[in-house]
This record gives sequence, C-alpha cells and structure tokens, in this order.
Amino acid sequence: MQFNFIANTSVPSSSGQTIAVVDPSDGQVYDEIQRSNASDIDQAVRAARLGFDSAWSKLGAAERGRLLMRLSQKITEHAQELSAIEQRDCGKPTKQANADASALARYFEFYAGACDKLHGETIPYLDGYSVLTWREPHGVTGHIVPWNYPMQIFGRCVGGALAAGNVCVVKPAEDACLSLLRVAQLAAEVGFPAGVINIVTGYGHEVGDALARHPGIDHISFTGSPTVGTLIQQAAAERHCPVTLELGGKSPQIVFADADLDAAIPAIINAIVQNAGQTCSAGSRVLIEQAIYEPLLKRLGEAFQKLRVGPATLDLDVGPLIRQSQKQRVQQFLREAEQANIGTVAQGQVVDAAPASGFYQAPTLLRDVPVTHRVAQEEVFGPVLCAMAFRDEAHAVELANATQFGLVAGVWTTDGSRQFRMARRLRSGQVFINNYGAGGGVELPFGGVKSSGHGREKGFEALYGFTTLKTVAIKHG
Ligand code: NAD
Repeated sequence: MQFNFIANTSVPSSSGQTIAVVDPSDGQVYDEIQRSNASDIDQAVRAARLGFDSAWSKLGAAERGRLLMRLSQKITEHAQELSAIEQRDCGKPTKQANADASALARYFEFYAGACDKLHGETIPYLDGYSVLTWREPHGVTGHIVPWNYPMQIFGRCVGGALAAGNVCVVKPAEDACLSLLRVAQLAAEVGFPAGVINIVTGYGHEVGDALARHPGIDHISFTGSPTVGTLIQQAAAERHCPVTLELGGKSPQIVFADADLDAAIPAIINAIVQNAGQTCSAGSRVLIEQAIYEPLLKRLGEAFQKLRVGPATLDLDVGPLIRQSQKQRVQQFLREAEQANIGTVAQGQVVDAAPASGFYQAPTLLRDVPVTHRVAQEEVFGPVLCAMAFRDEAHAVELANATQFGLVAGVWTTDGSRQFRMARRLRSGQVFINNYGAGGGVELPFGGVKSSGHGREKGFEALYGFTTLKTVAIKHG
C-alpha cells in the first residue's frame, strides 16, 4: 500500500479510499495508491507554506543547490530501484526506465548548479535613483504530472521550481505514482526540510482539480492533454494564478531528397516507438520529398517489420501501452484510418511471450495519409507513424504547420541554407536539424506554441517562469 507524502511523512488520504495499481505488462493489480480529495490537497498546501516560511525561504541559494545536488546523487545511487519501479508501474522497457532515472538525476544536478546563478539587474534611471530587479520565487507551486514520463517530468518541473526557491505540491497521474513517492522519500533522507516536496495521489478530476483551484497555490505547471490544460487554465484564471502548460504535439519529421537516410531512418523510427509512442514530442508524422517517397517508405517499412513488442523486463523495442483504454484509443484511430482506405506499409510484432492480458500494440506505419484526417491531426499517443509526400520546401512547411500543435519538428537535409529557412518557417517550440530530440537535452528550453501550450521548462529559461520579477526603485538623491 502506498501513501501520500506530506511534510516528510507518509500519510493515508482522508477519504480512506484507494486506487488499484496495474502492471501494464500483464494487466494484473499489484499495489494500491491513495484516492485523495480536496482536504488532502489542503493539508499538503498548508504543509508546503509552512515549509516555505519556516525553512526553505531562509536557506541561501548555494545551500539550496547543495541539497538538490545531494538528491541528484541519491537518485543515482537508487537508479536501479527507481528504474525497476517504473518498469512495473508504466511498462517501460528496461533501457527506457534506466534512461528516465538517469535523466531525473541529471535534472537535479543541472538545477543544483543553477540555484545561485539566477541574478537580477540594475537599471540606469533618473539622476538620484538606483533601480534593481529581484527574481523572487512564487512560493508554493503546484505540479500536475502525466503518466508517460513521471520521473523525467518531475525532474524538469520540480527541479526548476525548487532551484528558483519555491516549494512544491505534486499530483502525479493516477496510473504512475510509485517512483515519485519514492523520490520524495529520498529527498527527505538527504535533508530536504518538511513541506518542501509533497506528493498527493488520486484522480485528476478530484485532486488535480482541487490543486488547480486551491488559493494557496501560487503557480501551476501542468503537463498533459490539451483538454485538461484548458480546464487548468480556466481554474487558474479565476484567481489569476500563473500557469505553464506543456501539452501535446503532432510533430513532423521532414525528409528532403538530399538527406543522409542512413542517419535519418533509425532516428525517425526511434522518435515514434520510444515509450511505445506515448511521448508528447513523438515524431508522429513523416513528411517525405516526392522523389524519395517510395524508396524511403520501403526502408522504413522493413525497419518497422523488425520491431518487437513485449513485457517491460524483456527490454524489447517497444513495451505495452499504459492501460487498456489507451490501447482501445490507438486501435480506434487505426480502424478509422482503415475505413478511410489509408494503407498500412508495415507493422511490428508482439512476441509470443507477451501475456494476452497486457496492453500491447504493434507499431504501425501508415502511408498517403490525408493531412486533414484525424490520424494526421490528433495525438494518437501510441506507436503509429503517418507518412505523406511533399512537392517542395513550401509544401513541406505548409503540411508541417497544418495542425493545431507546435511542439517539436525535425528536418533532414544537407543543404545549409535550407536548414535555416526551415527552422525559421516551422511553427514549433523546438526544431532539430539532422537529429531528433538532441538526446533529451536537460539544458534545452522546451515547450510549445499554439495548442502545444505556453511557457518553457527545462534549461535555465525555466527559472524565469518559476519566479516573479520585483522592481525596486530607491530615490537616494
Ligand atoms: P491528462 O491530461 O489526462 O492527465 C495529465 C494529468 O492531469 C494527470 O495527472 C491527470 O490526473 C490530471 N488531470 C486529469 N483531469 C484533470 C482535471 N480535470 N483537473 C486537474 N487535473 C487533471 O493526460 P495524460 O493522459 O496523463 O497524458 C497524455 C497527454 O499528455 C498527451 O496529450 C501528451 O501529449 C501530453 N504530454 C505532454 C507533455 C509535454 O511536455 N508537452 C509531456 C507528456 C505528456
């Protein structure tokens, strides 16, 4: 049985109710989390405020940084344990869960070093005045985290918020809480004061909603679907609370005829099958210049056929989806594609060792997908890649920008001038040229435009969002 973590103590929810924890690899229940409610959120917000007033706000920036570094080291010592928790909780293949644990440690390492480097400015003004700016923490920040990368997303939002001097109340997704509850315990073990990191588990419409509405929350960072992002922003607007939204994407990978295909093909495949396609920045559309459309589709199809899908611990190319309803959602997209006569180039294989009760979905490559079809417009959040052909650069840009999203884009070309032109014209928060994702890039600001959200997390840039600027004007004559 798992408990909430409030003021460095494991506590049951006041409802006395729990939610079953299911292993996506076999569909079996193996643990329980607390089904919390608004009064648990209230308890966590009060604990956080006390932690801020009595301890965290009194620590020097360098001392905060040392604590974050101790947590990073502790996470590294416990990386195998955290990885094992995440493999079972989320169905992640071992390599992916290991990478997530090391990214979590890296976020705390990066933000540890950033704590004492967040400076204000002095501004030349009228004679007899001195004007300076201070970057101050918001206070108590709320973090609503999705299930696809719990450790990485916790690292990026909580790491940044703590570095900027805030204390945190975190609502993990109901499908993926266990690693974060363990990280909060590790933080207490390395000396984080009570109330600095609080975790409250439960359903989004109950605890997530209560967190978004709580008057004691001074800033909200939300990562999840556009639909829920709208609800969060509406709730926050009622009391003018600042919000960072990291929503989904329908990110294009654009391949020109002059591209190095040997480099592009594995990156294109990885960008859609990593984490079984349940990645906000998944490269879920591949736009291919007409001259190489058929030969590249053939090579991509051959690579898709080799993909193996199975239980997390077998560490194959693809693990299960998070839950049965996610599998049904992906299959509904594929049915609609079939009804629209969209062709399938190739599919991967679910291995025989995969239990029938697990939530497995073979990766699928679709061809000639009309840009307006739902499968080319909406997030499938599964391993489905939509291919379409383009005539020239202008057509590529038109197709790439033709969704409501704008999170990430990839461009594959050896023409240097075209690289810059494309980077300028693509409407997205990140553009990768001749690579995709830059290997994670804790240092690289991340976030979207349009329905992919607003605000930036990751990198030093995130610290500006987790602070508020105070201007101090002194008239001294
Ligand atoms: P979701 O929006 O359903 O849930 C995200 C979180 O919000 C969960 O913790 C959930 O419990 C909570 N929530 C749900 N309803 C709520 C409500 N009414 N009020 C407050 N909180 C509520 O999304 P998901 O299914 O967990 O994750 C998949 C989605 O997240 C995809 O659309 C994906 O693209 C997006 N995502 C985006 C990023 C990014 O950085 N841009 C990263 C990961 C996932």
